[in-house]
Amino acid sequence: MRIAEQMTIFQKLNILTDAAKYDVACTSSGVDRRNDGTGMGNCVKEGICHSFSADGRCISLLKILFTNECIYDCKYCINRASNDVPRASFTPDEVCTLTMEFYRRNYIEGLFLSSGILKSPNDTMELIYATLYKLRTECNFQGYIHVKAIPGASQELIQRVGFLADRMSVNLELPTAESLRMLAPHKNRKNILTPMRLVQNKMQENKQEIVEYRNAPRFVPAGQSTQMIIGATPETDYQIIRVAESLYKKFDLKRVFYSAFVHVNEDLNLPVRTDEGPPLLREHRLYQADWLLRYYGFEARELLSEENPNFNVLLDPKCNWALKHLEAFPVEINRADYDTLLRVPGIGYKSAGRIVKARRMAVLGFEDLKKIGVVLKRALYFITCNGKMMYPTKIEEDYITRNLLDVKEKLPAHIGQMTYKQLSLFDDVNFRMEQFTVTDRRGKTAIEKIVG
Ligand code: SF4
Repeated sequence: MRIAEQMTIFQKLNILTDAAKYDVACTSSGVDRRNDGTGMGNCVKEGICHSFSADGRCISLLKILFTNECIYDCKYCINRASNDVPRASFTPDEVCTLTMEFYRRNYIEGLFLSSGILKSPNDTMELIYATLYKLRTECNFQGYIHVKAIPGASQELIQRVGFLADRMSVNLELPTAESLRMLAPHKNRKNILTPMRLVQNKMQENKQEIVEYRNAPRFVPAGQSTQMIIGATPETDYQIIRVAESLYKKFDLKRVFYSAFVHVNEDLNLPVRTDEGPPLLREHRLYQADWLLRYYGFEARELLSEENPNFNVLLDPKCNWALKHLEAFPVEINRADYDTLLRVPGIGYKSAGRIVKARRMAVLGFEDLKKIGVVLKRALYFITCNGKMMYPTKIEEDYITRNLLDVKEKLPAHIGQMTYKQLSLFDDVNFRMEQFTVTDRRGKTAIEKIVG
């Protein structure tokens, strides 16, 4: 392990932002909080961390590891103990300084803090707690904080952190206990699910306890999330979405994130390296399916099965489902209930709501649907307006599949181009570095300055 003793805060930042890049569980919506006039920072329910840079990094949070030193040896992780990579650790003061300075310059809206396991889970969690405590009480930072709960840390520490953070997450890492044993031998399902349950119970207990100036519950007001690595182990999509479904139901998770496996280590237990790169399209399909579970009333067993355990990467999961259930179509737009409309490819939850509202005033035709935002290129095979289809068309799986495959799907820009080289904060051509001096309560600390 290479640990440089004398590093500037900028050198540490370079290492520890880069080390955090594989963690995708950092969206952070869910808390609306006004500054009370005594501190710095606001939280906005929508808008924080709503955009991602090309490599999946959430651009409006300062996303760092507290340390990339780690006593564990997860096979898939660049920071595992057995890798010879430059190591660095912040101090709580340094994280506070960075957060406050970046916030003042409007570069960030909050902090996403994860960490390797320094000496033990408790030691690490203690340092995270010290950081958050200082940030909230001494620096008076009222912006958004998403922090990782370290599996194996004491319940009391996790609880204390939960009263300071907006969102917490414990990474499930891999979909099954068996995969965890194989690739993350120092972790186990119990260590991961215990803090998840604790956060859930404390959120429930404290949900009535509203902090006045925050207008939000005191404990983890933005809820908890988790992340699973996809493609490092042989689980099918069906297994993965069933795990996600069960986490949503049993642990009240806000989000499950799927992270396409990136080959950064050589290990016999990892899949053979190919030229194909991370399974980004598969990851995208899982996110779409996740959306269907959370907002469209689908169940995992409706989307896939033991016999048909993987999504067709060429079609989005809703189209895939509709093609297997042609007996449910066509749906009459002017009569179908909201839940039925939700299941039509090309109709999103917003359009479904608009249809229900608009048809109270008039009988809707295809032109109206276009204005409402329905994607007719996809929907036309599955709907009628006033008893008529848009064009004479066959309701036949092969025929519709062929036509749907011809419709160019709008995929996220990064799919197909993603290199997984994370932009560091300083790769931005608009930034240049200068030395500057920050005065904190204990005196002066020299760090580099980013100049826009
Ligand atoms: S605990 Fe595992 S995944 Fe986390 S930093 Fe250490 S080696 Fe990496």
